[in-house]
Amino acid sequence: MRFRSSCCRHSRSCSLGGLGFEGYGCAGGSQKLFGFVAMELARVDASFCTFFGVHSGLAMGSIYLDGSEEQKQKWLPPMARWEKIGCFGLTEPLVGSGTSGGMTTTAKREGDTWILNGQKRWIGNAPWCDISIIWARDVADNQVKGFIVENKTTPGFSVEKIEHKIALKVVQNGQITLKDVRVPEANRLQGGNSFRDTARVLRMTRYMVGWASTGIQMGAFEATLKYAQERLQFGKPIASFQMVQDLLAKMLANVTACQCMMVRLGADGPTRASSATITRRSRRRSARQNRARRSRGAASCWAATASSPTTTSRASSPMPRRSTPTKARIRCRT
Ligand SMILES: Cc1cc2nc3c(=O)[nH]c(=O)nc-3n(C[C@H](O)[C@H](O)[C@H](O)COP(=O)(O)OP(=O)(O)OC[C@H]3O[C@@H](n4cnc5c(N)ncnc54)[C@H](O)[C@@H]3O)c2cc1C
Repeated sequence: MRFRSSCCRHSRSCSLGGLGFEGYGCAGGSQKLFGFVAMELARVDASFCTFFGVHSGLAMGSIYLDGSEEQKQKWLPPMARWEKIGCFGLTEPLVGSGTSGGMTTTAKREGDTWILNGQKRWIGNAPWCDISIIWARDVADNQVKGFIVENKTTPGFSVEKIEHKIALKVVQNGQITLKDVRVPEANRLQGGNSFRDTARVLRMTRYMVGWASTGIQMGAFEATLKYAQERLQFGKPIASFQMVQDLLAKMLANVTACQCMMVRLGADGPTRASSATITRRSRRRSARQNRARRSRGAASCWAATASSPTTTSRASSPMPRRSTPTKARIRCRT
């Protein structure tokens, strides 16, 4: 519950709900603004940025893009106020990348009710949120359709929290089980009639992933620079050595290239499939290179400290954990 109250309070005070969406109590603004906010959130805390992206991008975005007018009026205002938190259930235990053609969760219509059966895995916010956007294959026409399921009041809907993750530990992921879950036709996303409609939501949030990985690189660069300026060796900060400066300069060049590409993408139209995919791919590559440089910096520091009899105690922990500015730090623990 601390996760919920803390994250929602901060998000509400910054008016971040539904950023980039017009009307329905959403914060509005351009997609570029949405991107800059995601970048800054990720710079400080990648987990919080993921929580924000799942709720405000994937869950609200599904309703905004694929919901009927009535559904938007009903669900978006409380979600924009962070009173109702959403998740997005697409991935399954055995089907990840292949959900467009191989989804196993089924939806069967009986009059004005749909019956859902199946499992979803890795679903961010699922262990504690209020509503889940569940994607399931209609057994009648074999098309993927979206459903709004109310987590806490729908019989047959259960969530098991996924423990022991190696990264993004603050954002909570769950495995959802749907056992004869009955959902009224009024809760089927009226504009979501095939996987093409699911893909529109994914395309929009892929754009955000590009901004988020740029923000993560910024955070990594800042932490590395700070460490290199503080860590003394041979009586000088290691940042004064050219080989360390070379690594820092390459990191900064990657960060700057990513920022430029994201701004251009924001101007071009973030939902163009080719642009969003190219961006996500190149952002990830730069992020991997920057991570490697950060580790290489750590390794050379380790070598230096290990060979120095006065500093061997640091050898077991050559790089400090990235510190978060106190003001911006959001404590999120259950
Ligand atoms: C922290 C976290 C949060 C997540 N949150 C959510 C969420 O909120 N909602 C949700 O629905 N899902 C979520 N996911 C799931 C995520 O979307 C899936 O992990 C992703 O779709 C990949 O699926 P998979 O892990 O099953 O990998 P797989 O699909 O099994 O892929 C495994 C590997 O094979 C490669 N591969 C797959 N297909 C091809 C192909 N055709 N050609 C070449 N290579 C291929 C992939 O690149 C990958 O390297 C989350 C995952 C994580 C780790």
